[in-house]
Amino acid sequence: MKLQATDTLRELVSIPSVNPMGRAVDGDIFFEHRVTDYLQQQFERMGLRFARQFVAPSRENIVARLDATEAPDQAPIMLWEVHQDTVPVDGMTIEPFHPQATSERISGRGACDVKGSMAAMLAALSELVKVSRRPVNIVIACTVNEEYGYSGARKLVELWEPNAPQVNEFTNLLDRKPDVAIIAEPTEMNVVVAHKGAIRWRITTHGKACHSSNPGSGRNAIYLMGPVLEALESYHADIQQTGRNHPFCGRPTTSVGLISGGVSVNTVPDQCVIEVDRRVTPGETPVEARDEVIAYVDDFLRRKSENDQVSQHAPILLDGGLSHAKPHLIGWPLENVGNENLAEFVRSHAATVHGESQIMGVSFGTDGAVIGATGVPSVVFGPGSISQAHTCDEWISVAQLNDAVKIYLRLANSFEMSRSA
Ligand SMILES: [Zn+2]
Repeated sequence: MKLQATDTLRELVSIPSVNPMGRAVDGDIFFEHRVTDYLQQQFERMGLRFARQFVAPSRENIVARLDATEAPDQAPIMLWEVHQDTVPVDGMTIEPFHPQATSERISGRGACDVKGSMAAMLAALSELVKVSRRPVNIVIACTVNEEYGYSGARKLVELWEPNAPQVNEFTNLLDRKPDVAIIAEPTEMNVVVAHKGAIRWRITTHGKACHSSNPGSGRNAIYLMGPVLEALESYHADIQQTGRNHPFCGRPTTSVGLISGGVSVNTVPDQCVIEVDRRVTPGETPVEARDEVIAYVDDFLRRKSENDQVSQHAPILLDGGLSHAKPHLIGWPLENVGNENLAEFVRSHAATVHGESQIMGVSFGTDGAVIGATGVPSVVFGPGSISQAHTCDEWISVAQLNDAVKIYLRLANSFEMSRSA
């Protein structure tokens, strides 16, 4: 059975696997389980060994393996990692689950991020099953919840952690650390060796509610947020000059993306909440980056309270009027350390097939950081452009999709040679 990437992609797009992104939702488009079932059918048809790994209700990773043709216990493991979820479909201008296909493009939710890569990997696997000599064990891990917290990838890496159970359904499937990992994301056939991480948390100002006809008897939490926003904007400007400058990823950034507060216009609000996104450049750690922001805001407010005798906001904030919640997302950066040989190996095959491929860094996060943090040399590679991902008319180039099949095939067929090189 030889799979065509284009047909497989059309089928995958028509099976919704929308990530609720932390929202309380109900409906038959949410969660990954339908795609998981489809993948299981494909693995069964190819005759691959597989196992499912529970992450959360209706959310399971599925892992399948195609053994090396000689001494699979000694042969290296090449992990192909690809996430099953897509972002939501709100505001889309095309039919999200009825893929439109021309000879040049296939569109629909997930076509680019990242069901295109998934289809290319499945098509490559369906050919690899038939080759007479495979130097490497190919393990494909299709994970859940990449778009909102990386919990699928976090669960996956438990399989090769030192304290993993000795015998379970992943014995002889993925019971030792992979030698290398290719993480599928739209990179336009470039090889991503480093990317930023992120840490996100909420900041609350605490005021005192009262009737708005007599605002002086309360304390307005929305006004209190003013100096905090000023501090964060100033912090971002400062780290643009002084933050760690990574050769592939540039400097860290900070952004406030959400604000809420108050219950009605005739009530002085007692609470205001903002959500902060601090992007972490390789070489920084997310928790230290958050500590740096908190210390900066504190210092900014101290200077303000000394220099501004009129406004009482800064002293109030320093005296319990401000609190930082625990982070609700921690995404590690991917470091370009230890993945140099793998990167050049992938780049050279990509360039041969596709004509052009560069080694680069990007700003968006991936499961690659979770896998790379366990010491597995990891690069991010796949067809399609991130500028077409998450969009109202998401699409992928058919030419890139077909090139990706050939490249994934070459990576599996020639890995041994590159290891000894
Ligand atoms: Zn993705």
